[in-house]
Amino acid sequence: MEERAGLKIRVFGDPVLRKRAGLVKEVDSGCRNILSHMAQLMYEASGIGLAAPQVGINQAMIVVDAGSGLYKLINPKITAREGRQALEEGCLSVPGVCIKVNRAMRVVVEALDENSKAIKIDAEGLFACVLQHEIDHLKGKLIVDYASFLDKLKIKNKLSKLEKRVKDEVPKSETESCKLQL
Ligand code: ZN
Repeated sequence: MEERAGLKIRVFGDPVLRKRAGLVKEVDSGCRNILSHMAQLMYEASGIGLAAPQVGINQAMIVVDAGSGLYKLINPKITAREGRQALEEGCLSVPGVCIKVNRAMRVVVEALDENSKAIKIDAEGLFACVLQHEIDHLKGKLIVDYASFLDKLKIKNKLSKLEKRVKDEVPKSETESCKLQL
């Protein structure tokens, strides 16, 4: 994958993925730049969401496009949640791993847009799932943290290879089995 402005998708084992992202104090052209690079990387990787820590930036910014257009959100916060759903989620930072994650079916997210305007999003289903996944990234939380006992056994080797940066020959069919890449 081509690197843009030095940004590239970080992989499991990179400590930046486990840090809590700091709040953005001022929405400036630097933020807008990062958000547009993030959106490009997300689309190039056929993802539907990406959080700034995934590109090595420890700030509370996410991009999401779950089919209803591109959202660039700064300092996003879940202010209400309702219902339950469990989708099989993949993560661009944990390639080849697919985990069923219990999440709220509906969430209200408050954030700033790239013009520093306060916005409120009422999301459900897939969109709500992606928002929760990306906001987890801002807290240093990954899908592997939701793994069941059985999942943990299944992904143990994969995770240690990712951590050791061992190039794994994951069968194409296995990576493609997880449609949601976030
Ligand atoms: Zn992810």
